[in-house]
Amino acid sequence: MEPILTLRNVGFKYGEIEALKGIDLQVSPGEILGILGPNGSGKSTLLKILDGILRPQEGDILIKGIPLGGLKRTHVAREIAMVSQENYFRFSFSALEVVLMGRFPHLKRLQFEGKKDMEVALEALRATHTLELAGRSIHELSGGERQRVYIARALAQEPKIILLDEPTSFLDIAHQVQILELIVRLNRELGLTVLMVLHDLNLASEYCTRMILLHNGSIAKKGRPEEVITYQNIEEVYKTVVVVKENPLSGKPCVFLVTEDEMKKAGKGSAL
Ligand code: ADP
Ligand code: MG
Repeated sequence: MEPILTLRNVGFKYGEIEALKGIDLQVSPGEILGILGPNGSGKSTLLKILDGILRPQEGDILIKGIPLGGLKRTHVAREIAMVSQENYFRFSFSALEVVLMGRFPHLKRLQFEGKKDMEVALEALRATHTLELAGRSIHELSGGERQRVYIARALAQEPKIILLDEPTSFLDIAHQVQILELIVRLNRELGLTVLMVLHDLNLASEYCTRMILLHNGSIAKKGRPEEVITYQNIEEVYKTVVVVKENPLSGKPCVFLVTEDEMKKAGKGSAL
């Protein structure tokens, strides 16, 4: 299958700080790709580059074979939508108004939303089970509710690819699972290609079809969860000793943390 996204030798610097280097990646339509890595390894920068917010100084990014750099911002936004970590509204917009903002790339200059836009927004609210929140202020919602509204806003863009930056941070386990189940459902029902940054290695292992592990701005490992989530890879990249076992139900790798005391008892000393 032709890749929906291709990155060739992509590099990005914030002034002198090299945030990404030599990124080579192909994403097939319908994949759920996990982006993992320690703090500061370049995960958010990678999403921002793909969303066209930042322009890489090096390399090429192609969407369905077309260079991203040659596409207008609104054209990119009809292909790719981002659920970022940086959402702050000064005004007390309603959930519906926030979702309607997702229609912006589909509007002509100075045009207001029309009937079709409202229909798409309502459908996005329905798909994310947030219709009953439509009239509530975005500031009043709980973390899980707000995250679903942001996903609805991204859906209202009618993208082919959705980028999510730590969509489950600050949520309890029930809401983490709820958000990821929602993402999987949208992937299956709408055929959305998903790229998401996840902090939790075990959630990533369960929900991603493939993953990349970033380390100091480069891809240290890529592959299926069982290829990437190994104790050797985690120790190498996170500098933390862990035990990795198979989840008895799913067969996916599962990471356990180990205290120094337990390591000594096991006679392992420090492996690092
Ligand atoms: P992650 O999302 O994996 O935690 P980021 O992509 O946010 O990592 O950051 C990668 C590197 O780029 C870090 O060293 C970070 O300090 C740096 N960085 C991120 N944003 C900026 C910025 N706006 N200006 C300068 N440096 C930045
Ligand atoms: Mg980040």
